[in-house]
Amino acid sequence: MQAQFQIIGGGLVGLATAYALLEKGASHVRLIEAGKAVALETSYANAGMVHASLANPWNGPGIFGQLLGSMVSKNTSMKLRASALPDLLGWGPKFLRSSANTPHWRATELNYALAQYSMGLNRKWREDLSIDDAYDGDGLLKIFRTPRAFAQARDKALRLQALGLRTEFLSAQDSSVREPALAPIIKSIAGAIFYPDDFKADAYRFCKALEIAILERGGEIITGTRVEGFLRNGDSVHGVKTDTGDFQARTTIVATGARSYLLLKTLGLALPVRPVKGYSLGFSNIAGPKIPMVSKNPVVPKIPVVDDSLHVAITPLENCLRIAGMAEIAGFDRSVHPKRLQPLLDMLKHVYPELATGLSLEDAQIWHGFRPVSADGIPMIGLTPLRGLAVNTAHAHMGWTLCAGSGALLADIVLEESPVLDPAPYAPFRR
Ligand SMILES: Cc1cc2nc3c(=O)[nH]c(=O)nc-3n(C[C@H](O)[C@H](O)[C@H](O)COP(=O)(O)OP(=O)(O)OC[C@H]3O[C@@H](n4cnc5c(N)ncnc54)[C@H](O)[C@@H]3O)c2cc1C
Repeated sequence: MQAQFQIIGGGLVGLATAYALLEKGASHVRLIEAGKAVALETSYANAGMVHASLANPWNGPGIFGQLLGSMVSKNTSMKLRASALPDLLGWGPKFLRSSANTPHWRATELNYALAQYSMGLNRKWREDLSIDDAYDGDGLLKIFRTPRAFAQARDKALRLQALGLRTEFLSAQDSSVREPALAPIIKSIAGAIFYPDDFKADAYRFCKALEIAILERGGEIITGTRVEGFLRNGDSVHGVKTDTGDFQARTTIVATGARSYLLLKTLGLALPVRPVKGYSLGFSNIAGPKIPMVSKNPVVPKIPVVDDSLHVAITPLENCLRIAGMAEIAGFDRSVHPKRLQPLLDMLKHVYPELATGLSLEDAQIWHGFRPVSADGIPMIGLTPLRGLAVNTAHAHMGWTLCAGSGALLADIVLEESPVLDPAPYAPFRR
């Protein structure tokens, strides 16, 4: 049967797009996912933070030196591998050019606007669907180890504050009032910023709830089916070719995350998006039997804490403490080296020494994912030069934050309704 709308990719973004289409009254919505189930790739075990406060793309001023240094230095949170260089032609130079102050700030503003819209929708969908995704609206805390780092972050935060982001600048003492589990390390904190409107929630559980909602609303989800190419007639796309057969659709939407550029390449379209690998360690039952054996009364963390010195986040989710971060430009290399994970564990020791005592990598659920990163740091949401083909991707470190807004924006575009945000700056083939 021909679908009206066919979404390729069942991660946060694809599921949110399908749900937004159905919510706006679309019928015959189909989602095709290569994995045996939805949301087993980058949307599975991310840091669980929904954060307008981290709207700035990672390719900010100074990135060039950082990446160059990372090729020789062992202990950096960001790493560029020489093996990835051949695939970075086109994307790489633009990624560096976009790190200049003006384009970087423009991208930050656009991400921030989309995040604000998206977070409102996220709350609404959660309420409408009674989504049980361990949601907790307690804010997010960023801590800084040096007065210089705090002062620099303060300047950036003030710019976002001017756009409407609620922000509290805290002393070390006050930061441990916000997060009592930080008390043992307050002497090493130079200052902190608290963002009351950010929150934490489990992205995977949200995806599973969207999956049910899509099916209940008459949508179709096909898993275990890999899209290998498109059904094309001149300048029009009218479906996809998969390893289980062809699927026709009036409009096909590519939401395959970091792999989106590979699919578009089969059509001769160059989408400037590349994978940036990250990792997470999950420690279950952190307040359970294991921890009290080594520390008598550890205080269990309540809110996500980002340690600026290591670019790593620690998020307490239901029954699990998740430490996530690192940025490796290494193509789709799936290998996981203990030396890349050790900094995450070190971070836990650095921030919550009592909780971390005695923990090793063997205790952790280890995960990695590929963030889809555009060269200019702005997501790609909209139509392509080919009729019947749209794209929703490139949400980088913000896909959980931006998925609902991006899904709704794309739904408005393909349904030819008036979107809440001007879609032009997010157009996939912008200049
Ligand atoms: C370590 C880490 C921490 C993060 N923390 C946060 C956070 O705290 N907050 C936040 O907002 N964001 C965070 N992110 C970013 C966020 O997780 C991603 O931006 C988001 O998951 C991307 O979702 P997606 O749907 O685009 O991609 P994916 O989740 O990767 O989904 C794409 C889907 O497409 C499928 N697919 C691929 N190719 C094909 C094909 N040919 N045919 C059919 N299906 C295909 C894949 O199997 C996959 O299921 C983090 C990312 C990482 C790596």
